[in-house]
Amino acid sequence: MMMAIKRDYYEILGVKKNATLEEIKKAYREMALRYHPDRVPAEQKKEAEEKFKEISEAYAVLSDPQKRALYDQYGHAGIDQRYAYEDIFKGADFSSIFEDLADFGFGGGLFDEIFGDLGFDIFGRRTRRTPKRGRDLEITVSVTLEEVLTGTEKIVTIPRYEFCSTCSGTGAKPGTKKITCPQCRGSGRMVISSGFFQLSRTCNRCQGEGSIIQSPCSDCRGEGRIKVTRKIKVKIPQGVDTGSHLRIRGEGEQGAAGRGDLYVIIEVQPHPYFERHNNDILTEINISLVKAILGGEIEVPTLNGKVMMKIPPGTQSGKIFRLKAKGIPDLHGRGIGDQLVKVNVVIPTHLTPQQRKLIEEFARLSGDEINKESLTDKIKRAFK
Ligand SMILES: [Zn+2]
Ligand SMILES: [Zn+2]
Repeated sequence: MMMAIKRDYYEILGVKKNATLEEIKKAYREMALRYHPDRVPAEQKKEAEEKFKEISEAYAVLSDPQKRALYDQYGHAGIDQRYAYEDIFKGADFSSIFEDLADFGFGGGLFDEIFGDLGFDIFGRRTRRTPKRGRDLEITVSVTLEEVLTGTEKIVTIPRYEFCSTCSGTGAKPGTKKITCPQCRGSGRMVISSGFFQLSRTCNRCQGEGSIIQSPCSDCRGEGRIKVTRKIKVKIPQGVDTGSHLRIRGEGEQGAAGRGDLYVIIEVQPHPYFERHNNDILTEINISLVKAILGGEIEVPTLNGKVMMKIPPGTQSGKIFRLKAKGIPDLHGRGIGDQLVKVNVVIPTHLTPQQRKLIEEFARLSGDEINKESLTDKIKRAFK
């Protein structure tokens, strides 16, 4: 990494070495407005942000008489050795300047990003980590195709975190209170200085909360939450399919800012007889040669029980018949699917001598030539 050389603080703000505090403030205000990252085109944002940090650091040092004296005597080395980055900003009076900037319509956005990182907001107030909603939970529920047809209810068992009732979720022993974290003094953040770069991280003592528990609740050991196993009734609507997500609001884990949701993911068990295709049901059924030729009625199983289906005379093997509205009701109420029945015509493999005679008779009447070649003759002929 290339060693960056820090520019002179006076030079950064464009003021003389003997500038008064008023002149320094004025210079900073002007520059802060000019380099405000919200005022520059998108492609210059990053540069402006760097510049803004630079001028803010210069101002923090030069506006503090003690730091300014050290800087005048020892330069950057005097400041860097004496102060961590957080300390540079400590005591600097940004508030009046930021209030001025707020009058120009700035605030939030990048200001919060830059100073929020350091544990300051636009007016120099200390910021805290925002409380989070609890985690969403996910559970897979297996249903049969019959249950998909009618809709059903299932009891699911969910292990999840809930507020500890002993301490009402505070984590502190009943009768005691949380105290301000001594390590970050309530900001929830620590700033580490490493040469030219300053990093801000979540305070490890309080995990960013800004306060710590002195005497933890004995039931939850200061967590504020305890793991419990709950049984929840889940209503599964008609028409769900594998992969359907049902969201149950507020049945997830407890967090500081509320409960997460529970997602129920549906898995439809394969059926030994019925195959599902969207909202349609596919089945195959065998019919006899005679039924295929002469027509008739056959019994077809559906999810609702057996129904009779008409086979017209002259039905070809592989023909698909449609039984209207014998499929799955649509999840979103858009009608009901059909049952598609594919018929396979079964050709008899063994004939009695009399049956054979009748088929031969049938062939003669149809003008079919009965082939009396032997198998070996047939093969010979095919390869001639
Ligand atoms: Zn507790
Ligand atoms: Zn802390």
